[in-house]
Amino acid sequence: MTIGVLALQGDFREHVEALRRVGAAPIDVRLPRQLALVSHLIIPGGESTTIGRLLNLYGMIEPLRARAGRDLAIWGTCAGAILLARELRDARAAGQHTLALMDLTVRRNAFGSQLDSFEAPLNAPVLGEPPLPGIFIRAPRIEAIGPDVEAVATLPDGEIVAARQGRILATTFHPELTSDDRMHRYFLTL
Ligand code: GLN
Repeated sequence: MTIGVLALQGDFREHVEALRRVGAAPIDVRLPRQLALVSHLIIPGGESTTIGRLLNLYGMIEPLRARAGRDLAIWGTCAGAILLARELRDARAAGQHTLALMDLTVRRNAFGSQLDSFEAPLNAPVLGEPPLPGIFIRAPRIEAIGPDVEAVATLPDGEIVAARQGRILATTFHPELTSDDRMHRYFLTL
């Protein structure tokens, strides 16, 4: 099992550090030949339009689609979750490069601007107690999930903020920015 972190843009270093804390030896992934080495890939938070453009430029979209959910487990955080969603709601989304691998409908920047970023305790039954600290930074909102998608974590009002479809995981928040590594451990079990 080799864990990769997509290192094109965004907070990939924080994911690398969290993975090291849970005992993994992650590698940076930028090119198809690096992707071919990994069994698990994290797509970090950042700017989904930029990450999408770079994925396209580096010839990564088709290799990722070919392996996703089969011999490759994928976890997208925030911008990464946007890239995984099959349906993207955003007036400016037209033409944005996405992976569209997961049966999710996601709205970008749906909680407001950078100033509306917030923290909240999350209920995540697969992770047990205590609640998971959720950090939301210009986060997207999951507006709908398909029949094969299950909720993994919710806000106190029940809104889904983490979801899984087989071996593909999406979180609209940033576990890598906290010292709580349970979501990273969970991803390694997929
Ligand atoms: N708002 C960003 C986007 O649309 C995501 C923000 C983040 O990853 N923290 O890509």
